[in-house]
Amino acid sequence: MASPAFFPPSVKERKILVLLYADDLVLLSLNRIGLKRMLHSLLEFSDAHLLQINYSKSKIMVCGKNSRTKHTWHLNGHHLEQVNTFKYLGIHINNNLSWSHHLAYIKLLAIKTLGQLKKFFYSRGGQLVRPFFNLYVVKFLPMILYGSEIWGPVLHPALEKIQNNIFKQILALPKCTPATHIRAELNLPTLKARIDLSYLRYWQKLTTNKSRSLVKLCWEEQLQNGGWATHFTTIATSYDLTDNFLNNLNPRALRNQIFEFEAQQDNTAISSARFSSWFPLFKTNHEWAPYLDLLTKATLCRAYTELRFQVMPSAYLQGRYLGIPYANRLCVSGCKVPEDLIHYMLICPLFRAPRNKFLVPMLTDLTESQSVVFLLSSDQPHIIIATANFALAAKKLRASYVKKL
Ligand SMILES: [Zn+2]
Repeated sequence: MASPAFFPPSVKERKILVLLYADDLVLLSLNRIGLKRMLHSLLEFSDAHLLQINYSKSKIMVCGKNSRTKHTWHLNGHHLEQVNTFKYLGIHINNNLSWSHHLAYIKLLAIKTLGQLKKFFYSRGGQLVRPFFNLYVVKFLPMILYGSEIWGPVLHPALEKIQNNIFKQILALPKCTPATHIRAELNLPTLKARIDLSYLRYWQKLTTNKSRSLVKLCWEEQLQNGGWATHFTTIATSYDLTDNFLNNLNPRALRNQIFEFEAQQDNTAISSARFSSWFPLFKTNHEWAPYLDLLTKATLCRAYTELRFQVMPSAYLQGRYLGIPYANRLCVSGCKVPEDLIHYMLICPLFRAPRNKFLVPMLTDLTESQSVVFLLSSDQPHIIIATANFALAAKKLRASYVKKL
C-alpha cells in the first residue's frame, strides 16, 4: 500500500495512507486518481483475505478547495456516496473542516437529553436539585463534551445558554436571574471552562508524550505552521497559566486552577450585579449551597431559593418586570412601603404568625439587615429549616390574600 501512486498526504514527512481503528478503515489520498487506485487495491486485498466490505456504510469525502465538486465513485460495481460530512469515531467531520455540523449535532443531543432528564426531575427525581444535578454531571456532560479536546475551544454559545436555562428551570428561578448567580449557588463551571480544561489536559498529554504517534506529529507540524496548536497558548494565558507552569500541574490541580479562576470572576461579577444587592451577602463562596441537600421537600426548598434570590412573588419582583420605580413597589397588603426583603421577612403584618413561629425565636439583637443576612446565609440546619418554613408559609398566605383581592 505504500506506493507513491496513491498520492498519500504526509505529516512531518511521514506518509499517511490509512487510519485504522477496530473495524474502521479510512483511506487518505491527495487526489481522485490516488483514491481510486487505493480503492482498487483495497478490493484486491479484501478478496485475497476473504474480507467483506460494507458498501452502504462506505462513503467518500472530498476536503479542500474542490470539496463542492461531486464525482461518481464505484467499488466492485457498488455506488459509493460522496458526502459533505461524516461521523468518524463519534465526531462529525465536515468537508470544509469546520465544526458547524458537530456543534449542531451536540446542540440537538443536548436538548433531547435534557428533555429526558427533566422528565426524571418531575417524576422520580421528586423535583429535587441534587438528583438532577448528579445525572447532569454523570450522564449529560460526558456525552456533550465527548471529543471536546479535538473540537474545542470553539463553542456554540447556544450550548452555554442551554446549561443556564435548564438550571433556571430546575431552581424555579425567573429568566432574568444572571447565570453567574446560578453557577455560584451550584458550584457549576461554565461549559466553556470544562472544554478549555479538556483542551489543556490534551495539551499536557501531547507535550509530555515521548512517542512519535500521528497526533504528536500533527501537533508538531501545527506548532510550526501556527495553526490549531497555537490556540492552546491563548487558552492557557486566559487562565493566567504559563506553558511551564502548565507542564508541572497534575490533572486535579489544573482542574482546580481553571474552575477557581472562573469562580473568582463570577464572584466579582455577582458583587457588582444589579440583580440583587442581597445575594452577594448571602453567597460569599462558589460552593454547592448546603440547603439544597438539607431541604428534601421540593416546595420548601423552592420557597427558600426564592427568598435567597429575592424573587418570591412580591410587588418588588412585579415592579421589576414592569419597570416600576423601587419606591412605588408597594406592599400588596396596604402597608404603603415597598415590599422588599426586609419588609417581607421582618415587618409585614400579613406574615406575623409564621414569623413569630419560625423566625423570631432565632433572632437576637441584630439590625434588620443583619437579621435577613443571618437567616438566609446560615449553613446551620435548624436556621435553614425554620427560614424555609417561614418562606413557604408566607408564600401561601400571600397567594391566598392576593386571590381574595
Ligand atoms: Zn406589608
